[in-house]
Amino acid sequence: MKITIDTQSGFCFGVVNAIRAAEKELKTNETLLCLGDIVHNNAEVNRLKDKGLEIIEHEQLHTASNRKVLIRAHGEPPETYLKAKENHITLIDATCPVVLKLQERIRKGYEEIKSQGGQIVIYGKEGHAEVNGLVGQTNNQAIIINHPDDIHKIDFTRPIKLYSQTTQSIDGFKQIVDLISKEITSLDNGPNQFTAIDSICRQVSHRAPHLRKFATQFQVIVFVSGKKSSNGLALFAECKKTNPLSYLISDTDNIEAKWFTDVETVGICGATSTPMWLMEKVAQHLHRNY
Ligand code: SF4
Repeated sequence: MKITIDTQSGFCFGVVNAIRAAEKELKTNETLLCLGDIVHNNAEVNRLKDKGLEIIEHEQLHTASNRKVLIRAHGEPPETYLKAKENHITLIDATCPVVLKLQERIRKGYEEIKSQGGQIVIYGKEGHAEVNGLVGQTNNQAIIINHPDDIHKIDFTRPIKLYSQTTQSIDGFKQIVDLISKEITSLDNGPNQFTAIDSICRQVSHRAPHLRKFATQFQVIVFVSGKKSSNGLALFAECKKTNPLSYLISDTDNIEAKWFTDVETVGICGATSTPMWLMEKVAQHLHRNY
């Protein structure tokens, strides 16, 4: 069986930076706290836990006085920085520079539109850490649109600035832009300023067309990703579109022998949160067993 790993899959630079920051700290400190999973991949989280990384949740921040806490690539809302200061916590801020820049744009956008009585809209997943960080820039006033049905939350008679969570799909974003534009033009005395800011990270958006093509080149696709990764689920869906024999696994124990009956070519790929070492482990497992 010929097995090929997609060299374009794996961590984006934002995640690489965060992991490097954690590893650097753990060289000189026995433990380091991290606010939430450093990456949506259990295998990688466990590897770093073995080196001394401890994952904490927001509710535990008050117990972390005088300790170091890492902020992962997704970023955090301003409240987290305040809480850290109140509790004498030293933050190691590994927020991805792309997310930091977006937070800043949204903060400025909010200040502008607030004075015009308008609304900030974020196309993203409610409750996702990055979205929480973005909404925090608007004093928690931003409207979150996760699905086309959610657009009823917007008041179309008032100015609108639309942004996107960095990992959303471009097609989904375009659909929301079209729906909002239609609603505005259907108003009799339509106002209105509507600005759509495409803030999708190209580290992710370029991967979808690439993976659709990659998936056609093999009989079977094994897609490696944590089940909590929204980017992983979206990219897996892209593979499945062009190759129905695509399977999602988080580690080798999810692999089923029946997938490889009479199969000669297998492509292995993954999400932006999938470590290369895990895709290599899957390849070795397939080589050994099939
Ligand atoms: S996907 Fe883009 S924005 Fe998100 S962490 Fe990676 S590089 Fe940063």
